[in-house]
Amino acid sequence: MGRSGYRNADDDPIHALIVEDDALAAPPMIQFNRAKRKRILIVEDNYSCLRLLDDVLEAHGYEIWETTKGLEAINLARNYRPDLILMDIRLPDISGLEVTRLLKQDHQTKCIPIIAVTAFAMPGDEAKALESGCDAYIAKPIIVDNLVRTVDSFLSPLPPIGSALMPSNEGEPNLA
Ligand code: MN
Repeated sequence: MGRSGYRNADDDPIHALIVEDDALAAPPMIQFNRAKRKRILIVEDNYSCLRLLDDVLEAHGYEIWETTKGLEAINLARNYRPDLILMDIRLPDISGLEVTRLLKQDHQTKCIPIIAVTAFAMPGDEAKALESGCDAYIAKPIIVDNLVRTVDSFLSPLPPIGSALMPSNEGEPNLA
Protein backbone atom coordinates (compact mmCIF):
# COMPACT_ATOMS: atom_id res chain seq x y z
CA MET A 1 0.00 0.00 0.00
CA GLY A 2 1.60 3.26 -1.04
CA ARG A 3 1.55 5.46 2.03
CA SER A 4 3.11 8.49 0.44
CA GLY A 5 5.16 9.89 -2.37
CA TYR A 6 8.43 9.58 -0.53
CA ARG A 7 11.43 8.81 -2.66
CA ASN A 8 12.92 6.36 -0.21
CA ALA A 9 12.42 5.00 3.27
CA ASP A 10 14.82 7.52 4.83
CA ASP A 11 12.51 10.35 3.81
CA ASP A 12 9.51 8.64 5.27
CA PRO A 13 9.66 8.65 9.08
CA ILE A 14 6.19 7.20 9.51
CA HIS A 15 6.94 4.23 7.31
CA ALA A 16 10.17 3.66 9.19
CA LEU A 17 8.33 3.68 12.51
CA ILE A 18 5.21 1.83 11.61
CA VAL A 19 4.79 -1.41 13.52
CA GLU A 20 3.13 -3.42 10.85
CA ASP A 21 4.70 -4.41 7.62
CA ASP A 22 2.67 -2.71 4.94
CA ALA A 23 4.43 -4.78 2.33
CA LEU A 24 2.32 -7.73 3.43
CA ALA A 25 -0.39 -8.12 0.86
CA ALA A 26 -3.75 -7.19 2.27
CA PRO A 27 -7.04 -7.90 0.53
CA PRO A 28 -8.83 -4.74 -0.64
CA MET A 29 -11.51 -4.96 2.07
CA ILE A 30 -8.91 -5.00 4.83
CA GLN A 31 -7.14 -2.06 3.30
CA PHE A 32 -10.43 -0.21 3.25
CA ASN A 33 -11.03 -0.93 6.92
CA ARG A 34 -7.51 -0.04 7.85
CA ALA A 35 -7.82 3.29 6.10
CA LYS A 36 -10.65 4.12 8.48
CA ARG A 37 -8.85 3.09 11.63
CA LYS A 38 -8.03 5.81 14.14
CA ARG A 39 -4.32 6.45 14.48
CA ILE A 40 -2.57 6.54 17.84
CA LEU A 41 0.97 7.79 18.33
CA ILE A 42 2.64 6.03 21.28
CA VAL A 43 5.58 7.91 22.77
CA GLU A 44 7.30 5.50 25.13
CA ASP A 45 10.94 4.54 25.69
CA ASN A 46 10.31 1.48 27.85
CA TYR A 47 10.24 -1.48 25.50
CA SER A 48 7.94 -3.79 27.46
CA CYS A 49 5.50 -1.00 28.15
CA LEU A 50 5.55 -0.01 24.49
CA ARG A 51 4.83 -3.59 23.44
CA LEU A 52 1.90 -3.84 25.85
CA LEU A 53 0.35 -0.55 24.72
CA ASP A 54 0.93 -1.46 21.11
CA ASP A 55 -0.50 -5.00 21.37
CA VAL A 56 -3.59 -4.02 23.32
CA LEU A 57 -4.52 -1.03 21.21
CA GLU A 58 -3.78 -2.70 17.90
CA ALA A 59 -5.92 -5.67 18.93
CA HIS A 60 -8.58 -3.14 19.73
CA GLY A 61 -8.60 -1.90 16.14
CA TYR A 62 -6.35 1.14 16.27
CA GLU A 63 -3.48 1.89 13.91
CA ILE A 64 -0.34 2.40 15.95
CA TRP A 65 2.65 4.62 15.33
CA GLU A 66 5.44 4.65 17.85
CA THR A 67 8.51 6.55 18.84
CA THR A 68 10.81 6.50 21.86
CA LYS A 69 11.82 10.16 21.62
CA GLY A 70 10.02 13.37 22.50
CA LEU A 71 11.38 15.53 19.71
CA GLU A 72 10.48 12.91 17.15
CA ALA A 73 6.98 12.83 18.64
CA ILE A 74 6.63 16.56 17.96
CA ASN A 75 7.64 16.15 14.34
CA LEU A 76 5.34 13.18 13.83
CA ALA A 77 2.40 14.96 15.43
CA ARG A 78 2.91 18.12 13.34
CA ASN A 79 3.41 16.31 10.07
CA TYR A 80 0.99 13.42 10.37
CA ARG A 81 -1.69 14.46 12.92
CA PRO A 82 -2.49 11.27 14.82
CA ASP A 83 -5.99 11.05 16.30
CA LEU A 84 -4.56 10.63 19.80
CA ILE A 85 -1.18 10.55 21.56
CA LEU A 86 -0.15 8.33 24.49
CA MET A 87 2.68 10.21 26.16
CA ASP A 88 5.22 8.71 28.52
CA ILE A 89 6.56 11.41 30.84
CA ARG A 90 10.16 10.23 31.25
CA LEU A 91 11.77 10.19 27.82
CA PRO A 92 15.46 10.11 26.89
CA ASP A 93 15.60 13.54 25.26
CA ILE A 94 12.94 15.89 26.64
CA SER A 95 10.16 15.42 29.16
CA GLY A 96 6.80 14.23 27.92
CA LEU A 97 5.31 17.15 29.82
CA GLU A 98 7.39 19.56 27.75
CA VAL A 99 6.40 17.77 24.54
CA THR A 100 2.77 18.14 25.59
CA ARG A 101 3.18 21.86 26.31
CA LEU A 102 4.72 22.45 22.89
CA LEU A 103 2.01 20.49 21.08
CA LYS A 104 -0.76 22.26 22.99
CA GLN A 105 0.72 25.67 22.12
CA ASP A 106 0.74 24.87 18.42
CA HIS A 107 -2.56 25.54 16.65
CA GLN A 108 -1.85 22.65 14.29
CA THR A 109 -1.63 20.08 17.07
CA LYS A 110 -3.46 21.48 20.09
CA CYS A 111 -6.67 19.59 19.33
CA ILE A 112 -4.98 16.17 19.42
CA PRO A 113 -5.93 14.49 22.72
CA ILE A 114 -2.89 13.55 24.79
CA ILE A 115 -3.04 10.87 27.48
CA ALA A 116 -0.09 10.93 29.88
CA VAL A 117 1.38 7.55 30.83
CA THR A 118 3.80 7.54 33.71
CA ALA A 119 5.44 5.10 36.08
CA PHE A 120 5.94 7.38 39.02
CA ALA A 121 2.36 7.69 40.12
CA MET A 122 3.01 9.96 43.03
CA PRO A 123 0.82 12.66 44.49
CA GLY A 124 0.98 15.66 42.20
CA ASP A 125 1.85 13.77 39.01
CA GLU A 126 -1.68 13.85 37.71
CA ALA A 127 -1.91 17.57 38.41
CA LYS A 128 1.40 18.17 36.62
CA ALA A 129 0.26 16.19 33.60
CA LEU A 130 -3.03 18.04 33.38
CA GLU A 131 -1.30 21.37 33.97
CA SER A 132 0.99 20.77 31.01
CA GLY A 133 -2.07 20.23 28.81
CA CYS A 134 -2.59 16.48 28.93
CA ASP A 135 -6.27 15.58 28.53
CA ALA A 136 -6.09 12.49 30.74
CA TYR A 137 -3.69 10.40 32.77
CA ILE A 138 -2.94 6.67 33.07
CA ALA A 139 -0.58 5.27 35.71
CA LYS A 140 1.81 2.37 35.21
CA PRO A 141 1.56 -0.50 35.69
CA ILE A 142 -1.01 -0.33 32.92
CA ILE A 143 -4.43 -1.76 33.68
CA VAL A 144 -5.67 -2.93 30.31
CA ASP A 145 -9.37 -2.21 30.85
CA ASN A 146 -8.56 1.25 32.08
CA LEU A 147 -6.28 1.93 29.11
CA VAL A 148 -8.87 0.84 26.56
CA ARG A 149 -11.70 2.68 28.27
CA THR A 150 -9.70 5.91 28.44
CA VAL A 151 -8.57 5.74 24.82
CA ASP A 152 -12.08 4.83 23.63
CA SER A 153 -13.52 7.77 25.53
CA PHE A 154 -11.62 10.09 23.16
CA LEU A 155 -11.84 8.14 19.92
CA SER A 156 -15.18 6.34 20.11
CA PRO A 157 -17.33 8.72 22.08
CA LEU A 158 -20.68 7.38 23.20
CA PRO A 159 -23.65 9.68 22.93
CA PRO A 160 -24.06 11.74 26.09
CA ILE A 161 -26.08 9.85 28.70
CA GLY A 162 -29.71 10.82 28.51
CA SER A 163 -29.24 12.90 25.38
CA ALA A 164 -32.17 11.22 23.66
CA LEU A 165 -34.38 11.46 26.75
CA MET A 166 -33.87 15.02 27.91
CA PRO A 167 -36.69 17.27 26.77
CA SER A 168 -35.60 20.33 24.90
CA ASN A 169 -36.34 23.69 26.43
CA GLU A 170 -36.89 25.19 23.03
CA GLY A 171 -40.43 26.03 22.28
CA GLU A 172 -41.57 25.94 25.90
CA PRO A 173 -43.76 28.81 26.93
CA ASN A 174 -42.04 31.53 28.85
CA LEU A 175 -43.87 31.58 32.18
CA ALA A 176 -41.81 34.31 33.77
MN1 MN B 1 10.02 6.43 29.99
